[in-house]
Amino acid sequence: MEPLFVFKFGGASVKSAKAIRNLADILLKHRNRNLVVVISAMAKTTNALEDILSRWFEGDAVGMQERVDELEKFHIEAGLELVDGDENHVLISVIKLLLEQLKSQLKGKPHKSYDFHYDQIVSFGELLSTHIVSYYLNEIGISNILVDARKCIITDTTYRDGIVDEETSSILCQKEFDLGKGNIFITQGFIGGTKVGTTTTLGREGSDYTAAILANLLNAKDVTIWKDVEGVLNADPKIFSNTQKLDKISYQEAIELAYSGAQVIHPKTIKPLQNKGIPLYVKSFINPDAAGTVIINNDNVGKLPPILILKRNQVLISLSPRDFSFVIEDCLSKIFAILYKHRVKVNMIHNSAISFTVCVDYDKIRFERAQEELKEEFSVRYNSGLELLTVRHYTHEIIEEIAKKNVIYLQQRTRSTARFVIDRL
Ligand code: ASP
Ligand code: MG
Repeated sequence: MEPLFVFKFGGASVKSAKAIRNLADILLKHRNRNLVVVISAMAKTTNALEDILSRWFEGDAVGMQERVDELEKFHIEAGLELVDGDENHVLISVIKLLLEQLKSQLKGKPHKSYDFHYDQIVSFGELLSTHIVSYYLNEIGISNILVDARKCIITDTTYRDGIVDEETSSILCQKEFDLGKGNIFITQGFIGGTKVGTTTTLGREGSDYTAAILANLLNAKDVTIWKDVEGVLNADPKIFSNTQKLDKISYQEAIELAYSGAQVIHPKTIKPLQNKGIPLYVKSFINPDAAGTVIINNDNVGKLPPILILKRNQVLISLSPRDFSFVIEDCLSKIFAILYKHRVKVNMIHNSAISFTVCVDYDKIRFERAQEELKEEFSVRYNSGLELLTVRHYTHEIIEEIAKKNVIYLQQRTRSTARFVIDRL
């Protein structure tokens, strides 16, 4: 059988009519392949829908209506641009129909949990973008089948963070992505459905993960994530100068990068691919013929340059037992239980005989709840507004430079990785 390929286009690659035309140009070059194309919501639509949802919950009907109108205008204008201003085009009717469905969800007051409503509302971003892309492609002669991800990416009822039931999804995906019916399929990233058909989502930025799951379930030959950067870089160009593109990295390296806070790939993406040895390409939709980065098995990867990842908004907490006892096992297990209970994400730890230091992501509500409970048994001191800098494959020059330019609160080094909790000078 002919191999199948998975493409994923994120919000930036469908942000306007022009961007969607560019996507179509890329697909044209691959139109004879079997393709599953996973698409995110247009531009900042997910954020806009989150805002609409908050206003609905706060009872701000006027603000909500304004945001809905903006969203409507944005999608219809993009749609019209794609069909040469033809108001009667079916693509425009489809956008309007989806927007009516969204509005009817927002009637009355919320009656279920925030997370439940979140998924019902925020999923419209992907529903809108995929309908627009699919109808437009059909219009210009790239015939395709639009698959509703809610019918085949089956999750449990953990709203906003749906856990995929791979067995059921596998059976349904074979059925929906039926190569007997066509060779190009368009589907939504980020969204799924429960067994009884309620919409769920897979967590912010979850479209990469959808692409990986589909590749795994459909035994794809490879996956390409099309982005507005030339591939995976060794540092964020918005923060560091002289960045360089990495040609090849291992799955392991990619997991380490995502875990340390690199924004380029969603952390959950790699596992489904690694399990089946499916290569992941990260390529530029602006320069689609360039090689980009490939993420593959360890054995095929050469030496890497230093890679720098900066995670902002960190707090360094120091704890010492109030009774002046030592920090020993039962003490540590108490600390971790409290942090875990309040979902405070731990990034780095350090302990001495009488104190324990932990660097965590700052989330106001979670941090305050955890702090309150910790104070019952420990004296707590903390520094906020810090940054965590991870350097993979470090050199001594880099470490010296970091020491010159920053106040270092805590550092740890292994053979391959150096991590610093810093305040920039
Ligand atoms: N549209 C969703 C988000 O912005 C999912 C994604 O883009 O991957 O989080
Ligand atoms: Mg996005």
